[in-house]
Amino acid sequence: MSEYKDFSICKDTQLTLKKAHEDGVETVWDRFKKQKPRCKYCKAGVSCQICVMGPCRIDPSGKSKSKLYGVCGANADIIVARNLARMIAAGAASHSDHGRDLIEILYKIGKGMAPGYAIKDTVKLKRIAKEYDIDTKNIGNEEIAIRLSKAMMKDFSMEKGRLTFIDRAPKQRLELWEKLDVIPRGIDRETSETMHRTHMGVDNNHMSILLHAVRNSLADGYGGSMISTELSDIIFGTPKPGFSEVNLGVLKEDHVNILVHGHNPAVSEMIGQAVEDKKMIQLAKAKGARGVNLAGLCCTGNEILMRKKIPLAGNHLMTELSMVTGVVESIIVDYQCIMPSLGQVAQCYHTRLYSTSNKAKFPFIEHVEFTPENAKEQAFKIVKESIENYTRRNKDRIFIPASPVKNMTGFSVEAILEILGGSLNPLIDAIKAGKIKGVVGVVGCNNPKIKQDYGHVELIKRLIANDILVLTTGCANVAAGKAGLQMPEAKELAGPGLKEVCGLLNIPPSLHVGSCVDNSRIIVIACALANAIGVDIDKLPIAGAAPEWYSEKALTIAFYVMASGIYTVLGVMPPIGGSKKVTELATSGLKDIFGACLAVEPDPIKAAKLITAHIVEKRKGLGLSV
Ligand code: SF4
Ligand code: SF4
Repeated sequence: MSEYKDFSICKDTQLTLKKAHEDGVETVWDRFKKQKPRCKYCKAGVSCQICVMGPCRIDPSGKSKSKLYGVCGANADIIVARNLARMIAAGAASHSDHGRDLIEILYKIGKGMAPGYAIKDTVKLKRIAKEYDIDTKNIGNEEIAIRLSKAMMKDFSMEKGRLTFIDRAPKQRLELWEKLDVIPRGIDRETSETMHRTHMGVDNNHMSILLHAVRNSLADGYGGSMISTELSDIIFGTPKPGFSEVNLGVLKEDHVNILVHGHNPAVSEMIGQAVEDKKMIQLAKAKGARGVNLAGLCCTGNEILMRKKIPLAGNHLMTELSMVTGVVESIIVDYQCIMPSLGQVAQCYHTRLYSTSNKAKFPFIEHVEFTPENAKEQAFKIVKESIENYTRRNKDRIFIPASPVKNMTGFSVEAILEILGGSLNPLIDAIKAGKIKGVVGVVGCNNPKIKQDYGHVELIKRLIANDILVLTTGCANVAAGKAGLQMPEAKELAGPGLKEVCGLLNIPPSLHVGSCVDNSRIIVIACALANAIGVDIDKLPIAGAAPEWYSEKALTIAFYVMASGIYTVLGVMPPIGGSKKVTELATSGLKDIFGACLAVEPDPIKAAKLITAHIVEKRKGLGLSV
């Protein structure tokens, strides 16, 4: 067992990974090992495949005089900046395409073409419509939905020339962005321009490539991601606090277990409706099960956990392991972070896998396409087949490794405001009084380069002990939840000031604020705090951290958070080390431009020290006690 402790701090992961090996199943950790040693050129970001005169490689040490330029003459700075910009564009495209799919659903709800979907938060629909200058008087919700979706479509194009939500930023930040010419003009436009600029022979100045990459990231943070969050709330309901459970122990031996995985709640919403249907429950009973148990993985899991308190079975590195329990009848995936290995693992068990998006198909996974028009029908088909699959379970292979851990979730911006009595003032007062020293977003993925969940949990524990309130999104939530940090009782691990505030409000010191697109909620809070205090965001005692990030989306998030003025510590080095200029810019030079930069620190204990020192510096800047 001891060897499994090297992979994860979580008992359920360690035990299930051991069983996976006994069952002969290869996992992400095994493939990670086989990939060693890593290519030093790719690691440093100095390999280029942008055109077929290459591929080219630059010596990252700079010692080999014959390897200073690619065939076209691009040097390490150009190649690293181009590769980095393309990663950021891919992240922005992913979140934004997710947002676009939600706009389509909202439009079709308005048109009566999306059976099963509805507008759950009409108050928010009207509030967001107002932000888009839509006169909501004397028109019905369906017409508002149509007008709002059409207005949001314009954010994607070049029709407006400026994103609507960008004006949520404080005026000082907007003036800075205007001066730097990084205000996003259209979501798709910025991603498309990144691809153009980084084509051979277009932008060959690392600084201007990076500044555009920042604009592209802002198009995600204040565009694609923010639209995704707001529309998910409108269509599926704005999250409210409540309790649920987390880890592989949420799977039930005597139930049909169905997992939903990916990012977009559009599919899981319909699956959620189908599993509650009386006929489906009767069918499950007829097959010998006590009922149907729905649970989530990764960010689709976060979406349904936030809104419906449906339990969360695991994060990124546990998606393969969920099947090793032998009790999962089906996994239904939408898109992003779905390992192509899942179909292979399913061959060893009875689990049926379904892909649902026409843009995300996988080997050995059955494709059942969901559209706004047919989603309800398809959800019932899949749930019925999953229930029928219960009888194929091999009872001798069942292994549920742990009991579930209780967690608290649902901290949308609206919920936080309600807890605080309608405004951020109590939070500001607590920060001013030094009861809460600062606020830090701990976000992002798992990555086999870091012991699973160690980066998240160790960092969060040290921050809360220093009276720093933590907001978590994405896979960091599962780590925090499993460690018990998302329960009000975790206040006992907090410093005296934070403990007092959490006790008064009956909240945990580490708040679950959503999925990865919901980092936009953290941005909304940062903007509102800055506006309320009357300073720019970079003056606030706040920071961000992505201790175990792996995804291009996480890098995009890091960039829009940094460009918003928030110091951000990454636990894994991005592939930029081959350019001294780009590395220095990212880790220090950007501070002179945006008032914030990135840092890279894999050790969460050292990362906590960096962040705490940053919070102290910002408090001093505001004349607050430290
Ligand atoms: S763009 Fe230049 S550096 Fe990149 S592959 Fe082509 S020739 Fe090589
Ligand atoms: S946090 Fe990272 S790994 Fe987890 S679902 Fe989001 S992007 Fe994927």
